[in-house]
Amino acid sequence: MSTPSVISRSKQLAARAEAVIPGGVNSPARALKAVGADPIYFDRGDGPYLFDVDGNRFLDYVGSWGPMILGHCHPRVLEAIEVTLAHGTSFGAPCRQEVEMAELVCQLIPSIEMVRMVNSGTEATMSAIRVARAFTKRDIIVKFEGCYHGHGDAFLAKAGSGLATLGISSCPGVPEEATKLTITIPFNDLDAVKKVFKEHSKEIAAVILEPVVGNAGLILPQDGFLKGLRDITEKEGALLIFDEVMTGFRVALGGAQARYEIKPDLTTLGKIIGGGLPVGAYGGRKDIMQMIAPSGSVYQAGTLSGNPLAMAAGLAQLKMLQQPETYVKLNNKTELLAKGLSEIAEKKGGMRVAHITGMITLFFTDKEVIDFETAKKSDTEKFAKVWRKLAEKGIYWPPSQFEAAFVSTVHSTKDIEETLKAFEESV
Ligand SMILES: *Cc1c(COP(=O)(O)O)cnc(C)c1O
Repeated sequence: MSTPSVISRSKQLAARAEAVIPGGVNSPARALKAVGADPIYFDRGDGPYLFDVDGNRFLDYVGSWGPMILGHCHPRVLEAIEVTLAHGTSFGAPCRQEVEMAELVCQLIPSIEMVRMVNSGTEATMSAIRVARAFTKRDIIVKFEGCYHGHGDAFLAKAGSGLATLGISSCPGVPEEATKLTITIPFNDLDAVKKVFKEHSKEIAAVILEPVVGNAGLILPQDGFLKGLRDITEKEGALLIFDEVMTGFRVALGGAQARYEIKPDLTTLGKIIGGGLPVGAYGGRKDIMQMIAPSGSVYQAGTLSGNPLAMAAGLAQLKMLQQPETYVKLNNKTELLAKGLSEIAEKKGGMRVAHITGMITLFFTDKEVIDFETAKKSDTEKFAKVWRKLAEKGIYWPPSQFEAAFVSTVHSTKDIEETLKAFEESV
């Protein structure tokens, strides 16, 4: 007699979703294909934890891919949303919260004098290169292999992250013309930057990068790289755009630019700035930002941009992050995890740990990772195997070798010790 098989609720939802949503998910990484697992459907979050629809509890290191730096359901963020909610969800007209948000962003991010709110990181980067092209009256954009800047046409060349995970090098549907104006070179390679400017002098509108790369796994800028970029772009009359959608308010309150003391011309933001609601932003020098409509003629708009609920959630989160010691504590937690993982890596071999405040990657390679080429040397099969073992032990690590893990302010020492024990048993 056969026992009736129990099909998990996640599996049932996945089966329904596959019929009506491409791949059963609304963003590719969630399908968990790269780690050979089935999608997990979540029901709720609480602090550092996520609970799936089958009642399984996971210690979460994805943090909604970055926004949840205070953990899930932070009381201050929820309260701000509830209070604002009672006043309505959208006006399609200016509101108080967006002014407060713009003032706070200008105060916190050293290089931002003016800022425009949008609804996603993708929108922020698309809009930033538009105004950069208008300002410089040039067309070429230089980007770096493995850096992800959202899914705008111009950026879908060697874009790391989700594409790297799926092994997609170029994307059908993106006309060659759209990427012809994008030049992609290796990260941490100033000689390549100099060469590009030599070949395309006075044609390059902007150099855009993740100042700390999170979308190829975590890759830190080598000494002098960011400074070199600043010097070259300034000399050549091209704009420097820091895509801080991931690093903004994470590696430091003022982002990577505060940490490395480099002043870009434009900055893109997202993730943390929305407190878990859909928000992006781009800002920078006043003379550039004033070119945007209606103060200038570079058109960019949005029905839900500066949405009061999203602004309220983001403001509440940013205000919490302003509390003294926040980043010292976040750094200590990250260091604790990094130290433990490094010990495991040393003992077992074949692994490398990269970390910075709030971000960490365990690469399954014994070679130093300095760019996308070296990141790709990682053993992704081994990563997948370890990911599945971790998931079984209740650790929800980013489901790709090419994504950074995020530590939040609510991961406790005990949580981190539990994580290290799970890694010890899994690698
Ligand atoms: C996530 C991310 C984006 C895209 O943001 P979305 O809100 O997903 O559109 C752009 N740039 C970087 C660096 C990111 O990490």
